Amino acid sequence: MTSPQPSEAPRGRGGRQRLPRRRVTVAEVTAVTPRLVRVRAEGDLTGWTADGPGAHLKVFVPGPDGGNVMRTYTVRHFDADGGELTVEFGIHADGPATRWASAASPGDTLEISGQARGGFFPRAGTSRIVILGDHCALPAIATILESLPDGIRAEAVIEIVGLEDRIDLDGPVGADITWTAESGRPGGQLVAFAEDLTFSDESTEVWVGCEAGVMREIRRHLLANGAQLPSAPPVAGAPALHARAYWKLNTANHSDHDTGEDD
Ligand SMILES: Cc1cc2nc3c(=O)[nH]c(=O)nc-3n(C[C@H](O)[C@H](O)[C@H](O)COP(=O)(O)OP(=O)(O)OC[C@H]3O[C@@H](n4cnc5c(N)ncnc54)[C@H](O)[C@@H]3O)c2cc1C
Repeated sequence: MTSPQPSEAPRGRGGRQRLPRRRVTVAEVTAVTPRLVRVRAEGDLTGWTADGPGAHLKVFVPGPDGGNVMRTYTVRHFDADGGELTVEFGIHADGPATRWASAASPGDTLEISGQARGGFFPRAGTSRIVILGDHCALPAIATILESLPDGIRAEAVIEIVGLEDRIDLDGPVGADITWTAESGRPGGQLVAFAEDLTFSDESTEVWVGCEAGVMREIRRHLLANGAQLPSAPPVAGAPALHARAYWKLNTANHSDHDTGEDD
């Protein structure tokens, strides 16, 4: 048996080559709302890539046992040539990444994955986009909305812990943004909105990012009401559903690959 060459980059899920991690230095920390901290970091990001709006990276922060632990965050903004990366951390979990962000200050360092993946690109011809997401999907929702061209009819329903955590969002002209405060179980408002959605023949895509159990409920409901997974060939009038868990109740570091396939 031959051992891997030292120069060989580690491989991730599905045998994909992982690019070497980078280290960036915190340049600015901003409390955007009571529960959202923006961290702007600088460093050598030459060749670093993020494949589209809502793409996620891994951050490595001190864990409970002395070593570093990995968590998933969204690229809010980056400029590879200018060496800048901005990530927004929600202050709602009780975990190492949230603790790191709550205490972050300029000069701190942060290790990040070699690239970001999993961005959202609407299909050509899509005329309506419906977004359902919670507090920790807010950075993804913001970047997706910003990327949509005028002419796309965009609707977003965002559940946040309290309405004081609303932020300004850019989007295509006429974007319809609904903010709703958590009431009862997290994500409950999103399920109610999903159940009220109606679809016409318009070419529609639905993007969902929230707690794992809530995502499954929404997914189940929409699939039972004509939505299709993006892997299926497009059918006229059937909305394409892109659903992903952003976290899971009582679970640390929930998988970023959870699209509810096991449901
Ligand atoms: C693709 C993707 C992109 C993401 N982008 C962002 C982002 O840009 N900003 C952001 O804030 N989060 C984002 N998240 C969510 C983030 O990865 C999780 O919230 C993560 O678990 C936080 O890490 P932690 O170390 O603070 O808590 P963990 O150690 O992972 O969890 C500790 C405890 O907190 C609970 N918990 C975790 N997350 C939440 C939450 N959101 N609300 C309430 N309780 C929670 C867990 O159930 C667990 O009990 C993203 C997740 C995915 C999959």
